[in-house]
Amino acid sequence: MAINVLSVASEAVPLVKTGGLADVAGALPAALAPHGVAVTSFIPGYPAVLKALGKRAKAIHAWDALLGTPARLLAGKLGAHPLLVLDAPALFGREGGPYGDASGRDWADNWHRFAAFARAGADIAAGAVKGRAFDLVHAHDWQSAMLPAYLRLAPVPGGRDVPSVITIHNMAFQGYYPADIFPQLDLPPAAWTVDGVESYGGVGFLKAGMQLADAITTVSPTYAGEIRSVEFGMGLEGLVQARSHRVHGILNGIDSAEWNPASDPHLPARYTAGKLAARAKNKRAIEQEFGLERGDGPLFIVVSRLTWQKGMDVLLEALDHLVGIGGRLALLGSGDAEIEKAFLAAAARHPGRIGVRLGYDEPAAHRLQGGGDAILVPSRFEPCGLTQLYGLAYGCIPVVSRTGGLADTVIDANPAALAAGVATGVQMNAVSYTALAMAISRTCELYARPATWKRLQKNAMAADFSWDASGAAYAALYRQLLEERA
Ligand code: ADP
Repeated sequence: MAINVLSVASEAVPLVKTGGLADVAGALPAALAPHGVAVTSFIPGYPAVLKALGKRAKAIHAWDALLGTPARLLAGKLGAHPLLVLDAPALFGREGGPYGDASGRDWADNWHRFAAFARAGADIAAGAVKGRAFDLVHAHDWQSAMLPAYLRLAPVPGGRDVPSVITIHNMAFQGYYPADIFPQLDLPPAAWTVDGVESYGGVGFLKAGMQLADAITTVSPTYAGEIRSVEFGMGLEGLVQARSHRVHGILNGIDSAEWNPASDPHLPARYTAGKLAARAKNKRAIEQEFGLERGDGPLFIVVSRLTWQKGMDVLLEALDHLVGIGGRLALLGSGDAEIEKAFLAAAARHPGRIGVRLGYDEPAAHRLQGGGDAILVPSRFEPCGLTQLYGLAYGCIPVVSRTGGLADTVIDANPAALAAGVATGVQMNAVSYTALAMAISRTCELYARPATWKRLQKNAMAADFSWDASGAAYAALYRQLLEERA
């Protein structure tokens, strides 16, 4: 019999996306369907989401006061799968991003917005909405992480006691708030303990979810190990260690309908591993789009948030080297104002060699993967990372730091891997100028050997990071948790 799962996330492709979480939340329903799991997604009703739902949305439930705010539950579709949307205008009916205003400043009431969202999710999971029954609830990241806390510490009277899973897509974002919000969370006083929602004297949303969920997953096996350490655990390493028997690393897959060079509508020329020559047309298009000269060296690309986590400050330092040895760079990204400015300055310093586009542009991200030679991902930490997976699928060779999901998905072109014919990319040991400059040099050397480069591209494109394996792993985890409850 199919397992009914409620998947709760603050963003989901194609309705709202700021990062990889949206890709994963959007892909899970289809990934799990072949494994006997029926997923209903639950997301907040931001204006763009309500607009996309349009008149087809049906109100199926209402709260007079959801953490003090009136709210309705709308039912619609996410692709072919059921979708529930929390329509709470006081919380989500505002222009700007999902988490902050147009200038990028976080909304001051984010704790309220996402505690209410989690409270609603806990109600739905426990069966408060007529006609919707769930066996298990799967919450994602800090924005949904209070859900297991509400389920366990303030259950719906007469509600169903369903198991919960929390997935950490990025430990750096924890939803940490001062203690004085606690009385407004509608939790019993007993929840204010280190076994509940208290964390270092404040309220920790992610911490609460990790404490109270039946299982914790994160998005790669290596990151699951790394978050046990001070360096990656960001204050929650002790909790990860204490619950390590409940921690699982399950790699993200990629949506191979969206990200497939053979059928990608965004590419000037579509291609397969057997027709790599067709990529040349895509490369020309990027050169034009980014104002780059032609050249014999590789065309590096970046599609990224421009932040410290992504190692973009180190890349800035290495740009003169990249250009000096004959490379070119087309960068698409947005993020820290200072890093943005510095990339624009680098482009001005190296006209024709470095092209920078600030902003978020999904079709351009596809075009870059389809025509670039190598994608740079020098992250300081990377729970899973998707852009290197898209790079693999598109034969745009990933050049990555050896951390988290990057370590798990890219096989470094060292002599042994080259000899065995299994290499798919270039890894660097540290995120430093020296390591990155060396990795860029190695990439240029590999690129200068056409047969070796083609082999790398073919290996990369043959690597299978579809959702098949990950979907099966989540389904197995769900079944295990349900058996424990039975
Ligand atoms: P994170 O979620 O930490 O930002 P991931 O690699 O997991 O990193 O996912 C990033 C996602 O966002 C990918 O789908 C990537 O293609 C996309 N992306 C990042 N920056 C941009 C941008 N400026 N324009 C278009 N897509 C982008």
